[in-house]
Parts: sequence; structure tokens; C-alpha cells
Amino acid sequence: MARIGLFGGSFDPVHVAHLILAECARDQGALEKVLFVPARQAPNKPDVPLAPAGERLRMLQLAVAQNPYFEVSTVELDREEPSYTLLTVRQLKEALGRDCRLCLVVGTDSILDMPHWWHAEELIREVEVLALERPGFPLRDLRRFRSCFGAEAEARIRKSVVKAPLLEVSATEIRQRLRQGRSIRYLVPERVRDYILAHGVYLL
Ligand code: ATP
Repeated sequence: MARIGLFGGSFDPVHVAHLILAECARDQGALEKVLFVPARQAPNKPDVPLAPAGERLRMLQLAVAQNPYFEVSTVELDREEPSYTLLTVRQLKEALGRDCRLCLVVGTDSILDMPHWWHAEELIREVEVLALERPGFPLRDLRRFRSCFGAEAEARIRKSVVKAPLLEVSATEIRQRLRQGRSIRYLVPERVRDYILAHGVYLL
């Protein structure tokens, strides 16, 4: 059965940690491909303004263009409602067919937030989760998962942690650097940096 990774986020902008970690997840999770799914608006952050969807999408397309295992999916951008992951998973499962197994690729910051996600319990029953450790959100905190979803779910998550470098890179910091006129070279792929600078994406 083909294993397909689903990597969701606001990708505002996509950065090197996303790419390095998605590749580690693909490699260790034996994924046939990784679908990058930019959110229209994160349901848990409805008031946080994002760069326009078209620009976030274009930056992602530029970032993944040279990896034949990476693809961008617009399922969430094309939907009207907030980007609930469970709905995305069901929509993609239907589109991909029975021979595919979806694996959700998620950073530990988002995993620890999962108890607040829409129908999270159903979601973790329906997909395998591949966890990416993020600095500041240590794996030991996954024990909180137990009180919400039970010991079995916690054990499953712990088994699925992807071995990868800890990368202290965030889109928030990249936006901040741009606003301060500082360099973002090497924090995003060169083509993404060119796009950001040419289009003034994060200028106020
Ligand atoms: P922002 O700073 O705007 O919140 P972000 O850098 O967290 O953005 P997102 O697009 O929100 O990027 O993240 C998409 C996914 O990638 C989430 O699952 C998040 O946990 C994960 N992720 C992002 N950066 C890292 C990182 N440095 N280490 C591990 N996981 C990460």
C-alpha cells in the first residue's frame, strides 16, 4: 500500500526546516511522496493575518520544484471553510483511493496542540502520525498526549518520531528578520528568497 505524507501548515513562508524535516520523514517513513498542504487559515489562529494564499502557494511551489517526491496540494486553499485537518484527510483519502495510506507529518509544537484540534480523537484514529521534534517542544512533553488520547496513542506517537536534526527555524522569525531588513539567506531556498524580495511579500 502506498504511503503518502501529508504536511500541513501556513507556510508563511516555507523554510528550510520544513524541507529538511519533510525529507527525513519521507525517507524514514517510507513515504512515496509528501504532499505539502498550505492552510487557508489555521482554525486555531483565525485572527492571525497571513500573506495572501497565492503568494504562499507560489513560494511552496518554488521550494519543492526540485524534489520529485514533494508535491503541493491546494485542497485547503480551495475550500471555503477553515482548514480542519480531519476534513482534509478525508478529502485526500477519497481522492487517493483505497490503496493509499495517509501519514500526517507534524512538528511537536503542533502535536502538543492537538487536544484543541477539531475532532482530534477521530483524526488520530484515521491516520498515522509522524512526529518531528521542534526545539522548545521536547519529546518528553508527549506524555501529555496520554491524558488526552490514552496510553496506546502516546506509545504510537513515540514510536513514530522521525530522527532528524533539531532546527531552530520558524516562519515567525523569518518574517521578523524581513521587517527589520535583515538577511534570510539560507533560511529559505534561494528561489523563495528571490520571490520574497522581488514581490516585497513581507514588507509592511
Ligand atoms: P509560524 O512561525 O508562522 O508559526 P512555522 O515555522 O511554525 O510558522 P508552519 O507553516 O506553521 O511553520 O509549520 C508547518 C508544520 O511544520 C507544523 O507541523 C510545524 O510544527 C512544523 N515545523 C515548522 N518548523 C519546524 C521546526 N523548526 N522544527 C520542527 N517542526 C517544524
